[in-house]
Amino acid sequence: MNGEYLLSAETMFAAAHTLPGVDMCARLHGHNWRVRVTARVPADRLDATGIGVDFRVLEQATREAVADFEHRYLNELDAFRDRPPSAETIVRVVADRVAGRIRGHPSGATIAEVELWETPLYKVSYRP
Ligand SMILES: [Zn+2]
Repeated sequence: MNGEYLLSAETMFAAAHTLPGVDMCARLHGHNWRVRVTARVPADRLDATGIGVDFRVLEQATREAVADFEHRYLNELDAFRDRPPSAETIVRVVADRVAGRIRGHPSGATIAEVELWETPLYKVSYRP
């Protein structure tokens, strides 16, 4: 069987950041960030119940990946000590963390894409 399945789960978190040197973003402000993680499973790797990755497993991994961001000033976190918490760097951290959590899944699932909305109109995507 050819092809692949793409499975997605989402979560949200509220957090503040500043981006020094970036116009208005240099001011302290916050967002209600929305995150969607999409996992890729080869079509011939479904389990006996017909599932690639249980949505709840993907959702849990996504929630855990951003748990320490909730109601925090992101610039203070170790994850952003060496790089400012722009949407691009945040989405990369989330992708790396979720990849670590689903690595070794029996389906051979990998991260296809992580999307991060800073506002309902602004989104960045990262594909490992
Ligand atoms: Zn911002």
